[in-house]
Amino acid sequence: RQMCIRDRLRTPLTSMKASAESLESGIVDPKIASKFLRQISDDVDHMNHIVSDLLELSRMDTGQISLNLTEVNVKDFVSMALERHLVPAKAKNISLGTDIPPNLPAITIDTRRFLQVIQNLLDNAIKFTPQNGRVTINSNHDASSVEISVVDSGIGIAQKDRPHIFERFYKADRSRHEKGIGLGLAIAKHIVQLHDGEISLDINEPTGSIFTITLPIHAAYIS
Ligand code: ADP
Repeated sequence: RQMCIRDRLRTPLTSMKASAESLESGIVDPKIASKFLRQISDDVDHMNHIVSDLLELSRMDTGQISLNLTEVNVKDFVSMALERHLVPAKAKNISLGTDIPPNLPAITIDTRRFLQVIQNLLDNAIKFTPQNGRVTINSNHDASSVEISVVDSGIGIAQKDRPHIFERFYKADRSRHEKGIGLGLAIAKHIVQLHDGEISLDINEPTGSIFTITLPIHAAYIS
């Protein structure tokens, strides 16, 4: 597994180096040159993502994450989270919807960190859902908790992978070739637990995954 992580770290760097060397060797066709530049830019984005995840992991391990809690309306929060996924969803003709009842109680969250969690779930949902699929955010509540789910009609997660999906650096076989180092869900779980909440995975029928976050309404941790 270590080997695998090292490879995942090296891949974008190797690719950047190769593109830079190709450019150095004096490409004259501007179309080809701009293809290499685009590749370098994508590799930098990829590497940035990996570095942020690793930094977040080290903050988690040293207990450096403290929450900046405020009360937030679920509907407003979800629209904020959806914003930057509209374009990627549209590119795959994935319909992006919400099912949020009126009068949900407000949730008490660290908005920035919680956005990071939902956006990560949405990134995955869109990444692992083929063209023309569907991704929705649903919410619900009972007397003591609010649930927020990200539901997709994608490739789903094999039974053997399900128990491990929130572990650090874990990637299901089917997505080994995809970008990402396998830290997103581990970070998401940590942040949700800091909020006294839980995150769980269910299978969607006939196909896809459902990630559900449950947050207590009367948050005992607010002092
Ligand atoms: P990363 O996306 O960086 O690989 P994550 O921790 O976010 O890391 O996800 C870990 C793995 O879980 C992914 O590589 C993929 O195999 C699987 N996965 C996560 N979300 C989904 C989903 N919505 N549908 C199918 N597989 C998923």
